[in-house]
Amino acid sequence: MTVTQERTLAAAVRADFPILHQEVNGKPLVYLDNAATSQKPQRVLDALQHYYTQDNSNVHRGVHTLSARATDAYEAARDKVAAFVNAARREEIIYTRNASEAINLVAYSWGMNHLKPGDEIILSVMEHHSNLIPWQLVAQRTGAVLKFVELNPDEAFDLEHYKSLLSDRTRLVSIVHVSNTLGCVNPAKEIAALAHEHGAKVLLDACQSVPHMTVDVQDLDCDWLVASGHKMCAPTGIGFLYGKLDLLRAMPPFLGGGEMIADVFLDHSTYADVPHKFEAGTPAIAEAIALGAAVDYLMAIGMDKIEAYEHELTAYLLEQLATIPEVRVYGPKPNADGEGRASLASFTTGAVHPHDLSTILDQSGIAIRAGHHCTQPLHRCINAQSTARASLYFYNTREEIDRFITSLKEAVEFFGSIFG
Ligand SMILES: *Cc1c(COP(=O)(O)O)cnc(C)c1O
Repeated sequence: MTVTQERTLAAAVRADFPILHQEVNGKPLVYLDNAATSQKPQRVLDALQHYYTQDNSNVHRGVHTLSARATDAYEAARDKVAAFVNAARREEIIYTRNASEAINLVAYSWGMNHLKPGDEIILSVMEHHSNLIPWQLVAQRTGAVLKFVELNPDEAFDLEHYKSLLSDRTRLVSIVHVSNTLGCVNPAKEIAALAHEHGAKVLLDACQSVPHMTVDVQDLDCDWLVASGHKMCAPTGIGFLYGKLDLLRAMPPFLGGGEMIADVFLDHSTYADVPHKFEAGTPAIAEAIALGAAVDYLMAIGMDKIEAYEHELTAYLLEQLATIPEVRVYGPKPNADGEGRASLASFTTGAVHPHDLSTILDQSGIAIRAGHHCTQPLHRCINAQSTARASLYFYNTREEIDRFITSLKEAVEFFGSIFG
């Protein structure tokens, strides 16, 4: 993609995001906290509005027109999500509140019921707390043992160490696809193939990959995959679990309640087939429909285009950060093609605490993250209490990166003059 094409893409899509066109502290907003949550295009906001003004009704319950419309739209969104990640069957997509709930679903339904003392779960040291704590709970309850893949010297996933952890005791490998702190793209397909050779199941935490690149569950051959809607242009309160059909059918219910049953007696019940077995109670109907609208929006732009544009933008961000000697960026360098690295950069500067940095940049309308980004164990590995993080999406521009870098330089110089 040439610079002109690239500018055209960002320029074209920015008009779709009303929130981007505002001033914060007297300066045009530069939103670089997309790894925490993305902004929402008008089309998604319209889907929410349309649902509540035209179709609002409970799903799967009524035979009246509004209920039928709501049910159709809710189920049509499931088809869209299934197509988006190339699931073989629509029933393989379970709506959840977010990725955390999707992981907990697998941990409680499969992990708690399936694992025995001495069984091993392989995670990595770069996992988000959402893909760590549920497995700690499972391990405490079942006697399963947690093993952790370490970082290689490039601060990326150590594939050789992973291979050395695999054994016939491995039952589950649960790994982040793209690290929300290091930005590395982990070799998910290879990770899954190696796990399957040992008869282990594979869960992919795809929160940071699904919004930014083509993710094909059949190609990756993962057993489960989780993502959150709010990081891919959809509202909060909706995410999804993909699971292979046979596996989902074999798993017992997670939450009990309405919608998930076949026949109910006072002392026992039979359950609906998937996906409804895992969708107890009235779901987030409007949010699910809006997730479908977000998928439509992303697919209309094209995930290949989004990925290519973000590669260029990330290369520019890293290049610009490298011009500031005090800045230390974590995670691997992208390869010569700009690949292997997603569109975010976590960094520290010698003199300025990340929280102070974030506060100072906010004065110039620039939103970046500071903290441990829900990866405390990883921060211990990289010897940082906290980091600052700039994370991009396809609506960000080079001009925004320039403004960020200028303000960052000023902050570093200012603090350097005080403490230097
Ligand atoms: C955001 C994120 C999560 C958790 O997502 P929620 O929407 O908070 O459930 C898990 N893993 C990664 C890598 C993330 O970036």
